[in-house]
Amino acid sequence: MEIEKKIRTLRESLHEHNYLYYIKDSPEISDYEFDQLLNTLVALEQQYPEYFDPNSPTQRVGGGITKDFKTRSHRYPMYSLSNTYSKEELTDWANRVEKVLGDEEYAFTCELKYDGASINLTYENGKFVRGVTRGDGSLGDDVSTNLRTLPTIPLTLIGDYPPVFEIRGEIILPFDGFQALNEQRIQRGEEPFMNPRNTASGSLKLQDSSLVANRPLECFLYALAGEDLGVDTQMESLEKSRSWGFKVPDTAKYAGDLEEVFQYLDYWDKNRVHLPYEIDGVVIKINRFDQQKILGHTAKSPRWAIAYKFQAEKATTKLEAVSYQVGRTGAITPVANLSPVLLSGTTVKRASLHNAEQIEKLGLRIGDCVYIEKGGEIIPKIVGVVNENRPEVTHQIKFINHCPECHSVLVKETGEAQHYCKNQYGCPPQIIGKIQHYTSRKAMDIDGLGNETVALLYHQGLISNIADLYELERAALLPLDRMAEKSVDNLIEGVEASKNKPFSKVLFGMGIRYVGETVAKKLVNAFPNIDLLSEASREQLIEVDEIGDRIADSLIEYFGAPSNIDLINRLKNSGVQFHTEISSSSSDILRDKKFVISGVFENISREELKEKIESLGGTVMIAVSAKTNYLVAGEGMGPSKRVKAEKHNIPIIDEASFFELVNI
Ligand code: AMP
Ligand code: ZN
Repeated sequence: MEIEKKIRTLRESLHEHNYLYYIKDSPEISDYEFDQLLNTLVALEQQYPEYFDPNSPTQRVGGGITKDFKTRSHRYPMYSLSNTYSKEELTDWANRVEKVLGDEEYAFTCELKYDGASINLTYENGKFVRGVTRGDGSLGDDVSTNLRTLPTIPLTLIGDYPPVFEIRGEIILPFDGFQALNEQRIQRGEEPFMNPRNTASGSLKLQDSSLVANRPLECFLYALAGEDLGVDTQMESLEKSRSWGFKVPDTAKYAGDLEEVFQYLDYWDKNRVHLPYEIDGVVIKINRFDQQKILGHTAKSPRWAIAYKFQAEKATTKLEAVSYQVGRTGAITPVANLSPVLLSGTTVKRASLHNAEQIEKLGLRIGDCVYIEKGGEIIPKIVGVVNENRPEVTHQIKFINHCPECHSVLVKETGEAQHYCKNQYGCPPQIIGKIQHYTSRKAMDIDGLGNETVALLYHQGLISNIADLYELERAALLPLDRMAEKSVDNLIEGVEASKNKPFSKVLFGMGIRYVGETVAKKLVNAFPNIDLLSEASREQLIEVDEIGDRIADSLIEYFGAPSNIDLINRLKNSGVQFHTEISSSSSDILRDKKFVISGVFENISREELKEKIESLGGTVMIAVSAKTNYLVAGEGMGPSKRVKAEKHNIPIIDEASFFELVNI
């Protein structure tokens, strides 16, 4: 019984912290503490499988495989919405509503139309039962196992929820998550996704739910369905849903009349570019449920709601030429050169074409008139060819065979979408790109050595690999354009300081194919110095968690090249870290101490400070709460953090006091 109770308490606590983090945006414990709780629960559940619960927070990490998604019928059909692009048509709709409702007063709710995949969730007695895609509106696919991995889908509810109900929402992928996913894919040599919406709906149908768990999907809710819901209006239902633990964006608004609806439309037409996710319009609904009932449905859509779609940010222009860019890894990206055209306020001259297959898929030819669109990405993309009145003369796009920079023959390996220039040590953009990667913020973070400076130093013949950085001399730098004394000092100091960066950052910075930040950390944990790593066999490498064939092969290839070993030896001789400290950190003077870090510091980065605290046994929380022991305050600390700390009587210490505290 004790065990059962312990499991239950852990589950409740994890549900609560999940809610605080993802729905309320105000976490009370650190990620680290959360993981600790979760790990304890995972271990208990493994030991006591009799207490299995499909809604346990452990299910969020995924792992369940769905071979065939069961078809299920919707108890309440999922209608589509009628569309309009103009305020006149919207006025016509309101007039039709008024005709049916007669003299009755009525009002609207306005909500954003989230652009993702719609979903219907069923809850019984406060527990998530299942989630089904819209499908054709009456039959959809049961994707419950995948949905359980989404932290914004509550598995257990709070408050005064009805015993049985359904709730509708949209699964979306915010832009930053979309971009991060694509960066990961490109790094792994996979084809990037086209847009957030397709990625979101595609993700729901993945067979392996642990893959879904790795995609930063979110679920926004917008409608309740069921009997005796205890609410009378749409606005109230949104508020209630929020109180039960659902994520309901606070952009929804009550509008007393059409004038207020128009204001909402104008506001979001202008401001939607600032939203962190994609919308394709606004949904306007009659607020009162009894009036919705009177208005009813057509065969396809409710008469009490309408979608106002913003004019798509599309433009047409001429494809003048295709040029090719060479990336750090040698990947060749075709770029469309366009006749300049205005698209949502900026002049567009170039668009990404991803790869040769993409060009083929679009059936593009030079001289074609093309549609371009600005989606989530910063660079606009070509979404199609204008087929009417196709120009008489267009030219086939002949994908290049040779690298535009170094003229090596390009290679396209089977299973890869991208062409590559393999001349990694002789191709200028690859050489520069590698050094830029090494100096970048996530790797060695060398102050005073930005991308442009790296390119300049390369073109001046001062550097051609990362080891050269450590042999740069003031005298050679000072005569360069744009290199004032101060910048030279900065650069030299930055390079010097990089010698203190931990091995994992160095390894990541070396830019070995497929060795991203996480992989680098895993490798360093398994092989605490470069000699062990470079001599590791394929089998030893694969034994490491998350290291598969592809990464292992890439490492073997890298360390097999004598030039790379030379490079490493030179870096070593310069004093760059190639081993992990057998940490004095086993000292745990900060055990059980909880810190919140705010602002920026003079002698240490926030990231380093966090690492320091954790290496001494302490934990770093995101938000100040009664449990916080210290608030470490730097320049520009958020005022709300100070207020909260003062309220709870939490000591606020500066950088110097922190170092005193830990005796460094
Ligand atoms: P459509 O697919 O154009 O027929 O529009 C209907 C779809 O809009 C619904 O199935 C939902 O997936 C989606 N939608 C997005 N946001 C909302 C919202 N706030 N209210 C209702 N539907 C929405
Ligand atoms: Zn090349």
